[in-house]
Amino acid sequence: MKRSELVTAAPGPAGIDPAALTREQLLGWRCALCGTLLTGDRPLGTVTVSQGPTLTTYPLWACDPNCTTEHAWRAAIGHAAGCEACRTGECATGQRLLDAYSTAFRGER
Ligand SMILES: [Zn+2]
Ligand SMILES: [Zn+2]
Repeated sequence: MKRSELVTAAPGPAGIDPAALTREQLLGWRCALCGTLLTGDRPLGTVTVSQGPTLTTYPLWACDPNCTTEHAWRAAIGHAAGCEACRTGECATGQRLLDAYSTAFRGER
């Protein structure tokens, strides 16, 4: 069987693009949704990332019980402040952070 050399990543849970996750998020130090350092955590599922011929599956973790609006908002503006792609409005990570914020916002009402 021939190994595919395409860089593919299986779609993650909750529409998470594994390519957009930071190393800290893949290692479970930070929330995969809002990027907050985790104290309590809940499992989100796994993503598979390919680096050359190596496929690695990482379990993802999120804030427990939910990301707070404060966390999510801070993550969104913190990311956008240092992100070129966000300035042109083409950033999947920025969009995901804003989605996490609106989800948290709805959850708190
Ligand atoms: Zn979170
Ligand atoms: Zn961005």
